[in-house]
Amino acid sequence: QKPQPSDTAIAHSFTPKTIGRLAREVGLFSEEVEHYGTTRAKVRLEALNRLKTQPDGKYLVVTGITPTPLGEGTTTTTLGLAQALGAHLHVNSFACVRQPSQGSNFGVKGGAVGGGYSQVIPMEEVSLHLTSDTQAVMAASSLVVDTINARVLSESTQSDKVIKNNIIFLSGSVASEMMAVLALSTSLGDMTRRLARMVVAYSRKGKPVTTEDLGISGVLATLMRDAVKPSLMQTMEGTPVFVHTCPLSDIAQGNSSILADQIALKLVGPEGFVVTEAEGGAELGMEKFFDIKCRSSGLHPDVVVMVATVHGLKIHGGGPAVTAGSAMPKEYSAENLTLLENGCSHLKRQLENARAFGLPVIVAINTFSTDTDAELGLVCEQAKLAGALEAVPCSHWAEGGAGAVALGQAVQRAAEIPHQMNFLYDLEMPIDDKIRAIAKSMYGAGDVELLPQAQQKVALFSKQGLGNLPICMAKTHLSLSHDPERKGVPTGFTLPIRDIHANLGAGFLYPLVGTVSTGAVTHL
Ligand code: ADP
Ligand code: MG
Repeated sequence: QKPQPSDTAIAHSFTPKTIGRLAREVGLFSEEVEHYGTTRAKVRLEALNRLKTQPDGKYLVVTGITPTPLGEGTTTTTLGLAQALGAHLHVNSFACVRQPSQGSNFGVKGGAVGGGYSQVIPMEEVSLHLTSDTQAVMAASSLVVDTINARVLSESTQSDKVIKNNIIFLSGSVASEMMAVLALSTSLGDMTRRLARMVVAYSRKGKPVTTEDLGISGVLATLMRDAVKPSLMQTMEGTPVFVHTCPLSDIAQGNSSILADQIALKLVGPEGFVVTEAEGGAELGMEKFFDIKCRSSGLHPDVVVMVATVHGLKIHGGGPAVTAGSAMPKEYSAENLTLLENGCSHLKRQLENARAFGLPVIVAINTFSTDTDAELGLVCEQAKLAGALEAVPCSHWAEGGAGAVALGQAVQRAAEIPHQMNFLYDLEMPIDDKIRAIAKSMYGAGDVELLPQAQQKVALFSKQGLGNLPICMAKTHLSLSHDPERKGVPTGFTLPIRDIHANLGAGFLYPLVGTVSTGAVTHL
């Protein structure tokens, strides 16, 4: 068997159709589409208004087991499933993904969004400038930082009386909160209000200072006016994709934007399917998808697709560590049912997490050329024992949408099952109880320990009336626990909460778990 060409070589072997043609095919009017070159466009939010009364399509969320260095392929599966539905099962489909971070553009992942025969094209456009949303966010956050610096400088040269009220530090990571605002806004007006209420600094007396207080909220909204529109592109098989928002730091909530999903759901119509990706393991990106994103959007998904790989489960089953650049241990290139069966306890744990939200769950096994039939059979059997409605091996990386037709059909069946979605916690619960609910039921923690700084914040935020915001945990994605080295199903651990920040623009509280790094408080 000949090895498959590189992601880049495959991407270059496909010729995209013009974006004007794609936009017409999905039912957009020409005045709703802003062209960026010939293969990218932004979609104006007027489209959502026009389609307001149109019923939504089916809404699928793709999540996965806890990621390992070998790559689980959740993005690849999101795109492969959209290709299977749209180009092989002949129903309308739309994929919604995020732009990769700059880090993955330059070497780490080779620049593709997706992989093999399930990618967004043209690959250079999707991974580099796209439509400049990241640049808009960076310009907006620089404006905030510059304004604060200028304020500090001018106030420090004034009389003592004034100094008592001046700004002493910049709060949190402005760029990542702005990206979260972009992801969670439901209209231009909503984005404008969210930007205005962002707390970006504190006075010497501890009074929060918003962008509105600084007099720059209007300019910020203008800078971000185009970024709020999702970018339309296509898969290799010509099905539509929205690429919107980009990870900027660990606190990013791991999801594409609400507006992209909403417009896509209207465009595919009641018989169509929108496949949206929630990055990281199910305990992280998917939990935020439901408890933060769905709560904001009011959208109710129909099916959860959980991506698993044989090698990933072997790592969770206690297999040797894999390091980039060194030879692949034989456990991953040859059959090893013992390790795999051990690792299935991790799959079971993540399936319980997915099922906690009340939806049918389908397991998609993203197959690699080294997987054996016995291994795939074992994962299917274990997945069903753990409550997956169906488990389907798929080969969309090697074969494109044709390799995910069985997955598409399983999803179509699952989407017909009546269900009742629920959230994990009520917003009215006290802040520490919400954190405890996530830690115990999603991560499997024995308990939570709030360190002094975090305890003070709980008291402060409760007093300020912020107690009923949802929680966006800033935890490593490499383990169910706070320790990236602990694979499988860590149990009996106490989850340490170092501090808690409030993002009033995005509208959530984010606890810092363990030693996870963020662009947190920068003192001027
Ligand atoms: P994730 O979204 O889980 O981070 P991606 O879909 O971005 O993962 O894929 C990560 C990398 O793994 C890509 O380079 C992709 O080409 C590769 N990959 C994905 N699926 C397969 C597969 N079945 N066989 C070989 N490589 C794969
Ligand atoms: Mg991904």
